[in-house]
Amino acid sequence: MVSVIVGSGRVRGVPHAFPVLAGRVAAISGSQAALDRSRATLDRQGFTGKIGQIAALDNGDIAVGLGEEASADSLRVAAGSLARSLGSASRVTTSLHEVTVDGATRAVVEGLVLGGYEFDTYKSNKQGSASVEFIDADTKELQRAIVVAEAEVFARNLVNTPAADKAPQVLAGLMIEQARAAKVSSELWSKERLVAERTSGVLAVSAGSERPPCLLRLSYQPRRPRGTLALVGKGIVFDSGGLSIKSADNMETMKTDMSGAAAVAAAIVAIARLRIPLTVEAYLPITDNMPGGGATRPGDVITYRNGKTIEVLNTDAEGRLVLADGLILAAEGEPDLIVDIATLTGAMRIALGDRVAGLFGTDPRDVELVRGAGAFCGERFWEMPLVDDYSRLVESEIADMKNTGGRYGGAIAAALILREFTAGRRWVHLDIAGPARADRAYWWYPKGGTGFGTRTLIRLAELMAGGR
Ligand code: MN
Ligand code: MN
Repeated sequence: MVSVIVGSGRVRGVPHAFPVLAGRVAAISGSQAALDRSRATLDRQGFTGKIGQIAALDNGDIAVGLGEEASADSLRVAAGSLARSLGSASRVTTSLHEVTVDGATRAVVEGLVLGGYEFDTYKSNKQGSASVEFIDADTKELQRAIVVAEAEVFARNLVNTPAADKAPQVLAGLMIEQARAAKVSSELWSKERLVAERTSGVLAVSAGSERPPCLLRLSYQPRRPRGTLALVGKGIVFDSGGLSIKSADNMETMKTDMSGAAAVAAAIVAIARLRIPLTVEAYLPITDNMPGGGATRPGDVITYRNGKTIEVLNTDAEGRLVLADGLILAAEGEPDLIVDIATLTGAMRIALGDRVAGLFGTDPRDVELVRGAGAFCGERFWEMPLVDDYSRLVESEIADMKNTGGRYGGAIAAALILREFTAGRRWVHLDIAGPARADRAYWWYPKGGTGFGTRTLIRLAELMAGGR
């Protein structure tokens, strides 16, 4: 774990971490001499300045490789690597953020905090934090960066929590706690309210679980908003597949199936803490998907609040069923833009792998805006098409739609189903089934839940509010 601190200057006896480009060129002024003096030591360590390379100089200072070119991305990767190299309770000063690239401070803070992240709630032996002091940093900028990084930490903590310890109401409670502290208002719909409001997707998916579902609404209303953003996040606390049960292998990671909801909750809290002048309304359907005696059966039909019907043929395609409820509610609020985020389809993961998310949208300007927000954060989104005539894949004999479209184009079929619930409003759909989880550590990601999307949503709010 790493804590980021405002430092007043270099401290005698405290190692100083500074940036170095490939070829051992110091990326900030004043450090080249120290680098040159340690030539033999660096040779021994094979340090060339490659991205993410870390080496100790003779005087104890730390050279941090940025690769060929300094950029926010290379700084974030390098800082992540530095964070992992620091011993617990160690203390260093740094000037990594002094590299002259846009968003340097934010990228370095993110790399350090997120790269040094560890989920140790269930470890009996907890490591202390290393502290990194930023020299000559803009305090305000540093504090904003910390808020953004901490948001992703919060999302990761929720995602990594075992399903047993985050029953729907419990998970919602953890989100409400953070929301309150940030003056984000909340409204928790328990089962009775879900019945009254006809949020039928959540009810159908939760039918086989003993733990009652809920829908959490979070709302941030600044004084002079420059628009309204509605966020919808998939909150499946555990996805067993339901009666269309998953294989043992595919079930191992299914506590992470609420990653979309975690990203949304974390983002709205950060947006409020940063006082971004944008109204944000979040809708989080939260439930287990279990195969208990009351479970929804393949062949059952769900009638939604907006009158549309879906025939459930595969109970493991449950994400779209609960997102539909969230999207209907979001559209009713008539926001400028609706964005949903979900670990939705294995098909998306097959198409783009586990480091890139799928991005669908009804308006190219919104697609560009979200892609740009992601690029700023080092999160990659690739645009996928909404192929209108593929809607035949989800035609049902007895209902408006069925919930699966078969093997091919599965991520697109899912998106087409979701679109039916957006009332024709501007809408972006993010399928993060790949990057929500890391099978091994890379960049600033540890193994496990990544919190992917949290920072992109925060950045999106900044952009929508007219910030740069
Ligand atoms: Mn599923
Ligand atoms: Mn799922």
